[in-house]
Amino acid sequence: MTVVVEDDQAVRLWAAASAAYPEEGCGVLVGHADGDETRVTLVVEGRNLVRDRRLDRYELDPADILRADRLARERGEEVVGFYHTHPDHPARPSQLDTDRAWPGYHYVVIAVAGGRVEVATAWTLDEPARRFDAVSLHPPRPASGPPDHTPS
Ligand SMILES: [Zn+2]
Repeated sequence: MTVVVEDDQAVRLWAAASAAYPEEGCGVLVGHADGDETRVTLVVEGRNLVRDRRLDRYELDPADILRADRLARERGEEVVGFYHTHPDHPARPSQLDTDRAWPGYHYVVIAVAGGRVEVATAWTLDEPARRFDAVSLHPPRPASGPPDHTPS
């Protein structure tokens, strides 16, 4: 099983993850199944409703899920998963992430260090075991950009 984020949406995803730093960012992934792949064709940025622990907690606004679901239906697609960021922490789901996961969706976890996206991983819940299984994610990180200096 593979989650493929289309190029323009991957750019959006990395930008949203960086912008949320140093807080946790979160949102919804819209797309469709394509054989053994799940293609993400739209990233819907969400609001983190947590008030007092925004550096290491998130709670996606249910209104964002409804909005993403509406957008998905208009496109003949569906909500295929969710993303959130781990500021200055590895891209591995926490126990809390596992406990709160719903079966049948992909969960993308994005490690952001110092405001830069380092790497992202994707997971699906093994419902009977209540455990996350790793799923391959493409692309797993931003393409290396142009050099920092501008030619003079
Ligand atoms: Zn997490």
